[in-house]
Amino acid sequence: MNRKQKKMLFRIIITAALMVALHFVPVSGYARLALYLIPYLIIGWDILWKAVTGIFHRQVFDENFLMAVATVGAIIIAVTGSGDYVEAIAVMLFYQIGELFQSCAVGKSRRSISQLMDIRPDSAGIESEGQIVQVDPSEVGVGSVIVVRPGERIPIDGIIIEGESSLDTSALTGESLPRSAKAGSEVLSGSINLTGVLRIRTTREFGQSTASKILDLVENAGSRKSRSEAFITRFARVYTPAVCIGALALAVIPPVVRSAALGLPAMWSDWIYRALTFLVISCPCALVISIPLTFFAAIGGAGRAGILVKGSNYLEALSRTDIAVFDKTGTLTEGSFEVAGIHHGTMDDETLLYYAAHAESSSSHPIARSILRAYGRQPDLSRSTDVREISGQGVTAFIDGRTVAAGNSRLMDSLGISCQPCSSVGTVVHIAIDGEYSGHILISDRVKPESPSAIAALKAAGVSRTVMLTGDSDSAARQIAGELDIDEVASQLLPGDKVDKVEALLQSKRDKTALAFVGDGINDAPVLARADIGIAMGALGSDAAIEAADVVLMDDDPGKVSVAIRHARRCMSIVYQNIAFALGVKLICLALGALGITGMWMAIFADVGVMIIAVLNAIRALSVRK
Ligand code: ADP
Ligand code: MG
Repeated sequence: MNRKQKKMLFRIIITAALMVALHFVPVSGYARLALYLIPYLIIGWDILWKAVTGIFHRQVFDENFLMAVATVGAIIIAVTGSGDYVEAIAVMLFYQIGELFQSCAVGKSRRSISQLMDIRPDSAGIESEGQIVQVDPSEVGVGSVIVVRPGERIPIDGIIIEGESSLDTSALTGESLPRSAKAGSEVLSGSINLTGVLRIRTTREFGQSTASKILDLVENAGSRKSRSEAFITRFARVYTPAVCIGALALAVIPPVVRSAALGLPAMWSDWIYRALTFLVISCPCALVISIPLTFFAAIGGAGRAGILVKGSNYLEALSRTDIAVFDKTGTLTEGSFEVAGIHHGTMDDETLLYYAAHAESSSSHPIARSILRAYGRQPDLSRSTDVREISGQGVTAFIDGRTVAAGNSRLMDSLGISCQPCSSVGTVVHIAIDGEYSGHILISDRVKPESPSAIAALKAAGVSRTVMLTGDSDSAARQIAGELDIDEVASQLLPGDKVDKVEALLQSKRDKTALAFVGDGINDAPVLARADIGIAMGALGSDAAIEAADVVLMDDDPGKVSVAIRHARRCMSIVYQNIAFALGVKLICLALGALGITGMWMAIFADVGVMIIAVLNAIRALSVRK
């Protein structure tokens, strides 16, 4: 509990004690009123104040107003002799207990989200004259060397230049197994260095580093509202005035009808009391609080499990997923190719690999990285000039005075070079030097071990179509689709073709369902943006993907897609449970209150009870079932 909450608890206890004490004080008339006003004001002054200032701010009809009118009305009835002061105080008291409870609950889910937020490092160690000094990480430039000791959090993204250690990346990925890292490994800010001292050359500024990006993302998630949240805001705007008018009608019409038309005693105070009860019951707190809280908890819980959702509207869309479209390379496959062979070379393999590696030296495509790995040495960047990467096709470059092209058959076609087909299964990178076909490198990719179960889990979750889109050759695509039991495949697509395919799928999907596209963010940002829900995976460090995607999976396990869908569905069902429960109890109480069967006591009790149950239910969304 924070100080504010403790103060409120104190006010609640004092009020309750005073009420018990006053029970034994034998006074009547205005003295009694004066005595009872003390606990009433102790517990309710802030509500009265908010109601009054609300009127001046033209926000008349909020729950403070409802509470103020109801309790002041109850006191007036008590003064006239036909009611009890205790009732007015009790209504305020329960209302405040409810508010306190709710603020504790919000605090709890905020805290579990800030465990995720804990990844913001507040200092970076820099070596200066043999000493390590801690500086503000935002002052560290790109290319500086920072020192991270065991137990410390890595403040800025970079590459290890010295040292060996294992890293706890659980704050980023939700994965508890430590990862080992040594000189040359890329490390991301937010992970914890567990065992050895590391010297890291930074590759980004602090503000551009993974930890800062993730935090921005989670902090801004609240600004994208789902339809149910927007509905509640609109609902409250119409509902509260409607209830006030209803209450007024209940207070005035029956007595007038009784006395004027039926000749019965009007019973004004009876009907006013019923109207006030009606007001108390109709306070929409449970709904107004529990729905945003459910989304808030669900987004926070997902974040802790390594699933970043950029807004509650995406949770809603995710829960309706019916078509799941995957990119192939790096998404369903490892994206870490092995060179399986070099065929039809017109020069020795070593030289061919030399040209290929230099052409690919500045590409971040998984194919490029694999060729560089096979080459085994640092390419001399000054040798390659005029490097152009043609998305979905390959690269061309000028190396040692020769033009080199490396890519798929589509690239060769566009250059007017006829290429040798490859009889083995795998991805083929054709190489042409000075316009002459010079052989191809066969590389083979492996399906990720999690992929088959990920597809099966999606089907089990009721996703009716799974589709794989790839820029790779037909044979490579079909082989992988077969291994994974994917329903539909389209191959040899350029990034633009993937957008067209997704658009066609969007046309054909059933009403009220959603299409999710899952990619690794390398040249598929346009599709990520076009799909109903763009899911980027393994996207830590890939800025474009984090920008374009609606959901970011922090590690590269495709199984998280079905986890995210199930989580979103669970969140939505909690939302609907709360709406149905709160509205149901409200309607019953409203009817009973209008008929004079329940009093104000019962009403406030039901209201606070409903709220507590709804809030507890909402908090369930914090946990993610794997
Ligand atoms: P996917 O759809 O499987 O993710 P991409 O759209 O990234 O694949 O690439 C499609 C194809 O384009 C690859 O299979 C490869 O043949 C070719 N290609 C793309 N980039 C490169 C590159 N840097 N070097 C060689 N070939 C490339
Ligand atoms: Mg790709």
